[in-house]
Amino acid sequence: MATDYPYNGRLSRWEEVADGLVIVGVQATDEPFPFAPGQYATLGLMGDVKLVQRPMSISSSADDLSEYEFFIRLVPQGGFTPLLWQIGVGDPINIKGPKGKFLLQEDGRRCLFVATGTGLAPFMSMIDTLRARGEQRDIWLLHGVSYEHDLAWREELTELAATAAAGGFPLHYAATISRPDEAGGWTGLTGRVERVLDAHLDEHGLTRDNTTIYLCGNPEMVSAVEEIADRRGFDPEHVRKELYWPKGRTH
Ligand SMILES: Cc1cc2nc3c(=O)[nH]c(=O)nc-3n(C[C@H](O)[C@H](O)[C@H](O)COP(=O)(O)OP(=O)(O)OC[C@H]3O[C@@H](n4cnc5c(N)ncnc54)[C@H](O)[C@@H]3O)c2cc1C
Repeated sequence: MATDYPYNGRLSRWEEVADGLVIVGVQATDEPFPFAPGQYATLGLMGDVKLVQRPMSISSSADDLSEYEFFIRLVPQGGFTPLLWQIGVGDPINIKGPKGKFLLQEDGRRCLFVATGTGLAPFMSMIDTLRARGEQRDIWLLHGVSYEHDLAWREELTELAATAAAGGFPLHYAATISRPDEAGGWTGLTGRVERVLDAHLDEHGLTRDNTTIYLCGNPEMVSAVEEIADRRGFDPEHVRKELYWPKGRTH
């Protein structure tokens, strides 16, 4: 990998969540850019001949620009992530932002956040930013992953949700895993998010009249949840979405 590109950031943190799944920090070496929670940045690394750039949702609070945090899955056949897995903390990286319109709506409605995999990232930024600002929003977060070990921030989210009843930040957190290990003792929800969503909506009284749904991650999940929301009479304006790749494209 060529390194003589005029980079404007450096990799400041690398935390492995599971094999091929990391939380990373990037510090701007230029003036940091402000962003709104839910927005993304473009990260870039020099490939053999040119800068390879990919959009990545920012997972950290919009009130702390000392380091931008990202939650990234390695796509072994991909163009960018294998380059990222070759660098180390302290190495240069390009960062551009902010971009994107996947933003919290000021509509006074309940928020249902539905994420698959790394699609949790913008929701972490929204939750951390609201908390940092002392703003309360009624949030139901449903995170779907393949394996239990992919549940990043599970402990933190579980602890935060446990304080809600005692007047803490009003977060309800549920995780579902589609490939439970029978010996692993998982007692939570199983199956893809779209399989558990109807029951989740009914159980928590989340309706077209009181809730805005935010979807982020895998495009098949986004389409499936859009269908459920449509069937339940949600106005499309109350179903916001961020697709991480075009529908129908898989490696
Ligand atoms: C607005 C936006 C925000 C994004 N935010 C994130 C983020 O926070 N974290 C993140 O890991 N990715 C995110 N992505 C996807 C990211 O831009 C890259 O596509 C991904 O990192 C793979 O890059 P690559 O060059 O290695 O593979 P590419 O050559 O770009 O190959 C892309 C293919 O890899 C698969 N793929 C892409 N992203 C993922 C993923 N996250 N998990 C599993 N399979 C995937 C898809 O099949 C896709 O067609 C985001 C995409 C968009 C459009």
